[in-house]
Amino acid sequence: TPLPDYLTEVLDTCGGDDGGELAAYIPELAEADPDRLALALCMLDGVVYAVGDTDARFSIQSISKPFAYALALADHGLDAVVEKVGVEPSGEAFNEISLEVGSGRPFNPMINAGAITVHSLLDDERVRAGFSAFAGRDLEVDEEILGSELETADRNYAIAYMLRNHGVIDADPRAAVAGYVRQCSYLVGVEDLAVMAATLANGGVQPVTGERVVERWVARQALSVMTTCGMYDAAGDWFTSVGIPAKSGVSGGLIGALPGKGGFSAFSPRLDGHGNSVRGVQVFERLSSDMGMHVLETP
Ligand code: GLU
Repeated sequence: TPLPDYLTEVLDTCGGDDGGELAAYIPELAEADPDRLALALCMLDGVVYAVGDTDARFSIQSISKPFAYALALADHGLDAVVEKVGVEPSGEAFNEISLEVGSGRPFNPMINAGAITVHSLLDDERVRAGFSAFAGRDLEVDEEILGSELETADRNYAIAYMLRNHGVIDADPRAAVAGYVRQCSYLVGVEDLAVMAATLANGGVQPVTGERVVERWVARQALSVMTTCGMYDAAGDWFTSVGIPAKSGVSGGLIGALPGKGGFSAFSPRLDGHGNSVRGVQVFERLSSDMGMHVLETP
């Protein structure tokens, strides 16, 4: 079967499940059309395949985290970033108000405490330009989603105040959250996400534009934390069943990067109890078993 037909068939088989719930804690996300479903794949030669609701635009949310982490690594180097944010899975919810005992750092850059700290190493313009380089087009913030989330951001404010109290960030906590939530509010479609994931899978070179966005070691570091911490507190489940570095977000997006092979993305807004897209996870399980994508599969 030609690849687009195969991808359409995968969507058809996963489209029937209407389990899960929209993320309700951000008012704008609760308004999303829950039935949308899309899937994209970017090969490392730059060819992109996309099927389903490929015109749907949604906020990138936590899928921004590995890319912001990559930009911070590129700008500050590994040691400076690791001094501020660890690389251990926390086993806790993404918005847990906690720090690693001993080091006093956020556990990892995929939970909010780590992501707010990473964001404090960047500025808004660097994030905009960097994300746009990963995507290969100028990305824009959805100001409605940004405003909506800032009205209900008490938990992230609590995290940012904790970070400043412990000297992890110097910035004003309210400004730190505003910047982090802006980072989460970039609008993307599945094709953008597949290309962004493919850039990491390609060692930092954007496969469509040919631009080197980050160094190879940076891409590897970002993929490493996606592998161990990318799927909320279901990272272990995900890795055993699907077996590729991945990141999900509360608007229903999901990316997977298969090093040396390609970038994948899915979008479907209903989430499971961990915060991962129900149909997105199913799509990836299907792709992984059909294509033998698990990175630890013996040949
Ligand atoms: N902006 C969201 C938050 O910090 C991102 C959550 C997510 O996608 O996990 O709550």
